[in-house]
Amino acid sequence: MDYSIKTIGVVGAGTMGQGIAQVCAQAGFSTILYDINPAVLSQARQVIEQSWQRAVEKGKLTPEQKNEAGKQIVFTSDLQQVKADLIMEAIIEKLEVKQNLLTELATINQPSTILASNTSSLPITSIAAKVPFPERVVGMHFFNPAPIMPLVEVVSGLNTNTKVADTIYEIAKQLGKSPVRVQDSPGFIVNRVARPFYTESLKVLEENVADIPTIDALMRATGFKMGPFELMDLIGVDVNFAVTNALYEAFYHDPKLRPSRIQKQKVDAGYHGRKSGKGFYDYF
Ligand code: NAD
Repeated sequence: MDYSIKTIGVVGAGTMGQGIAQVCAQAGFSTILYDINPAVLSQARQVIEQSWQRAVEKGKLTPEQKNEAGKQIVFTSDLQQVKADLIMEAIIEKLEVKQNLLTELATINQPSTILASNTSSLPITSIAAKVPFPERVVGMHFFNPAPIMPLVEVVSGLNTNTKVADTIYEIAKQLGKSPVRVQDSPGFIVNRVARPFYTESLKVLEENVADIPTIDALMRATGFKMGPFELMDLIGVDVNFAVTNALYEAFYHDPKLRPSRIQKQKVDAGYHGRKSGKGFYDYF
């Protein structure tokens, strides 16, 4: 099968989906951004518009380029409208929810539509297992913030067709990104190697070795752009917690990946970081 990508559907308009849709529209792809929640969609529209406006003010985009990009993107909360050559899902980090949504999208779309997941931690092989034509399911893991971070992990599951992974690799380049190929493995590369950055920092906090601003300041002083708590607030405390849980299960309860009760409490309280106005820090 040949995969020619002209239209991209982005499913989930939260932290990642809005940034991914922005990148796709800017690169000239006809882009459909979908979310189940209309309030999230209108917020995504605002964030993208403001981001393009700032780019114009800084001279990074011309007003014409901003207009062109704006014309490439439509916002919808009607799943039936998500018909595309490539669909990238960026919804909640729950296996069953992703499987169900991709299966529904498969029924709306052609068998040639590539279904890419932005999952940080769930096996692509497992996501694909329930989806019709699993050979077109692939991982396309962007980093946060998607418009700025160049890295994209292109993840091949056990059933992923080589042509599908090749197509995603090329599309990532067309989006101005630096793709790397990865075999399906829990957390792929970055989230696996980086996980103790979060889990150890939370243990340091639990043991009262130092407080949150001190841990963050020290890690920044050693060269990290952000401290672990600042970064968890940017990522989404809920998303980061879900990823740690998934890796803890996938690596058969390796103690170094044990999720933190402090983090769970934040999630339970709705303190999800910047997106909710409160996380390890306050944002209002
Ligand atoms: P988010 O919570 O900011 O947004 C998720 C969005 O999905 C929400 O707007 C929600 O309304 C929507 N949604 C949930 N269930 C849905 C459904 N059934 N149908 C349609 N929309 C639905 O989450 P996020 O941070 O954007 O993460 C999305 C995905 O990207 C996750 O798989 C996550 O692991 C991955 N990811 C996150 C980051 C990060 O730093 N936040 C980085 C890389 C990858």
